[in-house]
Amino acid sequence: MSRCLAERGVDHVVLERGTVANSWRTERWDSLRLLTPNWQSRLPGYGYEGNDPDGYRTMPQVIEFLDRYAKVISAPVEVDTTVTSVRESDGHYLVETNRDAWQCRTVVLAAGACNVVRIPEAAKDLGPALATVTPMTYRHPGQLPAGGVLVVGASATGTQLADEIHRSGRPVTIAIGEHIRAPRVYRGRDIQWWMDAAGVLDERYDTVDDINRARGVPSLQLTGSSDRATLDLNALTALGVRMVGRFVGMRDGKAQFSGSLRNQCMLSDLKMNRLLTAIDVWATANGLDGEVEPSHRLAPTEVPKSPPLTLDLGGASIRSILWATGYSPDLSWLHVPVLDRKGRIRHDGGVVDAPGLYLMGMQFLRRRKSALIDGAGDDARDLSDHLVRYLDGGAVPG
Ligand SMILES: Cc1cc2nc3c(=O)[nH]c(=O)nc-3n(C[C@H](O)[C@H](O)[C@H](O)COP(=O)(O)OP(=O)(O)OC[C@H]3O[C@@H](n4cnc5c(N)ncnc54)[C@H](O)[C@@H]3O)c2cc1C
Repeated sequence: MSRCLAERGVDHVVLERGTVANSWRTERWDSLRLLTPNWQSRLPGYGYEGNDPDGYRTMPQVIEFLDRYAKVISAPVEVDTTVTSVRESDGHYLVETNRDAWQCRTVVLAAGACNVVRIPEAAKDLGPALATVTPMTYRHPGQLPAGGVLVVGASATGTQLADEIHRSGRPVTIAIGEHIRAPRVYRGRDIQWWMDAAGVLDERYDTVDDINRARGVPSLQLTGSSDRATLDLNALTALGVRMVGRFVGMRDGKAQFSGSLRNQCMLSDLKMNRLLTAIDVWATANGLDGEVEPSHRLAPTEVPKSPPLTLDLGGASIRSILWATGYSPDLSWLHVPVLDRKGRIRHDGGVVDAPGLYLMGMQFLRRRKSALIDGAGDDARDLSDHLVRYLDGGAVPG
């Protein structure tokens, strides 16, 4: 957004509570690699120039990438500046920080979609005997006590951490709710390549049937490893990870799991196959069939015959629990009345329901790719155009 505003001659400042790439520096685990290939982190006027376009960045590489971008575009970043309040004041916004206060006609809310881990209410009944970790506090398996681990959630984070923790000698049980399975490589090409090329990631927010539902869809079960392996539930089962249904709460000291595991897995296979069929159709229509490997399908997810519906965590030697249950933004500092009943910002593709206020970086904000690094550029171009029209006092349709 800073690059787009500079290009449009808009005087601006970027307020950052830490330093550039703060969330990648402070909130990610050690072994994490991006699940998007190197070529796919495209920012306005900036892309990948190395010799491994299909590889996946480590965290130090992501930090270096973003640091360099901030320097190349001379982004006016004020570091160590925490925004403590944004409110309306006499037709302007008053932005208060731990250092100075700023007055401005427009504010772009770009504080991230993943500031707090969404932990189920029932977590409070777990008792003090279990070590509790979240993807924001987890760094490596050595941090966990010896013994079993319950990983709750089976999207990208849950499957990646279940794999790493189980391999460390701590037997993992994974509680599985809604998830989306995907092969890492399909017909010889990265699944992200297909989704990018076929326009799936460019699908717009105002063309989907139920945008609230689309904004809540979990991340694809993907990992960015050097062997480009698929990390789905079958891979975890082969490793010895135990599968149970969605964690629904605690009763009489026992963890309770939903009986919907089989359905969830069937649904996930169905959605994956629907995506692969759409890719096949696109490949044929675009004359790629002779160039890429033949179409194929993955074996269905193997589901245990009768997965346990309850588990005495102590008796099952489970010593820690990792909540891989998704994230929410932290908007506690936003004092402009734009939140709906569920605490979500009311906006139309990032144009917030308050003049001069904009939003970036949220799931499916304007496009399916909006919450990816690769999605920021197109959204910033659109929203900065809107912002300039607003500053010029012109008509501002969404
Ligand atoms: C575990 C994980 C893995 C991911 N993997 C990928 C991937 O493989 N590929 C991909 O494209 N995307 C990935 N993403 C999504 C990725 O985080 C986003 O694409 C990207 O970070 C969005 O950038 P952003 O600037 O909107 O948000 P963030 O990177 O979260 O940046 C927000 C910034 O705002 C600052 N901030 C927050 N509150 C305040 C405040 N009150 N005052 C001042 N500053 C504040 C934060 O310190 C932070 O630096 C992943 C996300 C997570 C959580």
